[in-house]
Amino acid sequence: MTKEKTLILLKPDAVQRGYIGNIVSRFENKGLKIVGMKMIHITSSLSKEHYAHLVSKPFYSDLEKFITSCPVVAMVLEGKEAVEVVRNICGPTNARKALAGTIRGDLSNSTSRNVIHASDSKETAEKEIPRFFKKEELFDYKLNEYYFYASDE
Ligand code: UDP
Ligand code: MG
Repeated sequence: MTKEKTLILLKPDAVQRGYIGNIVSRFENKGLKIVGMKMIHITSSLSKEHYAHLVSKPFYSDLEKFITSCPVVAMVLEGKEAVEVVRNICGPTNARKALAGTIRGDLSNSTSRNVIHASDSKETAEKEIPRFFKKEELFDYKLNEYYFYASDE
């Protein structure tokens, strides 16, 4: 199984509510490798690009106002089947339906203030990572993977 990279955004509600450390810890604890991490303030045009599939929805104006209201923490995580693993750790979009133990299940009770974004497929991740990170902002450093995966996984 080859490793994948996926894009995460800790949204303005996660920053305002003091959940950055809580959420980052969950990914570290799972054994995902942090290969990029920074704080950015999303602009209106970046919001329209990132949420292009939602710009025509009635809730888009609230979404743009929210996502541009405060800086976010952007991260790139790497690991085997990282896209699916991370989406499962996040839980579904509607946090009220998210199981306890997931990030959204534990930290949110809302569809629109659901604390985290995560790429929804490998193809999406390949578009989203360069949207937020320059090549030189991603790091290819060594971890001793013997302690993370067996060699035949
Ligand atoms: N969103 C919202 N209301 C909705 C659906 C989505 O405010 O009815 C927001 C919410 O912040 C969500 C984001 O739009 O996380 C992106 O929606 P998507 O369907 O891509 O969900 P996600 O991939 O974040 O689970
Ligand atoms: Mg999505």
